[in-house]
Amino acid sequence: MVSPTQIDRLIAGFKSFKATYYEQRPERFQSLVERGQNPRTLVIACSDSRADPAILTNSEPGELFVIRNVASLVPPYQPEGRMLGTSSAIEFAVRDLAVRHIVVLGHSNCGGIEALQRIAKGEEPEREFLANWVSIACEASNCKDKGVGDANEIGRQAVVVSLTNLKTFPWIAEPHAKKELSLHGWWFDMGKGALWAYNEFKGAFEVLA
Ligand SMILES: [Zn+2]
Repeated sequence: MVSPTQIDRLIAGFKSFKATYYEQRPERFQSLVERGQNPRTLVIACSDSRADPAILTNSEPGELFVIRNVASLVPPYQPEGRMLGTSSAIEFAVRDLAVRHIVVLGHSNCGGIEALQRIAKGEEPEREFLANWVSIACEASNCKDKGVGDANEIGRQAVVVSLTNLKTFPWIAEPHAKKELSLHGWWFDMGKGALWAYNEFKGAFEVLA
């Protein structure tokens, strides 16, 4: 039988959230409900339980529009594709919410990146969806070199691949060229508690915090 303890913890957590946002300072959520959301930043993060962008950036409700998927990946612009969850959420954030920043947030010890490494070595995972999805970042893993390379470096390069793919969306490329929309590549080193950022002029990641 599944223990209810974890779900009880989540319900207790909701009660704590409710006490803060509805009882102690209700005006903020009331405003978000009445005026609607107006987040300035879209974050594309990994589904990994240890890399929650709202927790990592100490953000409040209404601040971040968040997409999470395996390995924080952005597929290239493929309007003819079907059921593109990540692309449709990006479209809503950019075209409807008019976010000013897009952050792609990768992280160390990423299971999606480790799967990509194994696939690059020719080890097909016994999963139905994973290989096709992480192949978005195949370029980052040097697939041609049989996946040789450091997983963290591959993870950072996967962030760069996603940034490149973001620019293939015409309604991102245009405001980006006009400096109305900025793109950021971040990578969270969870072992060291460090945040890295991609410097596109240097073509390298630097420690941000
Ligand atoms: Zn991950």
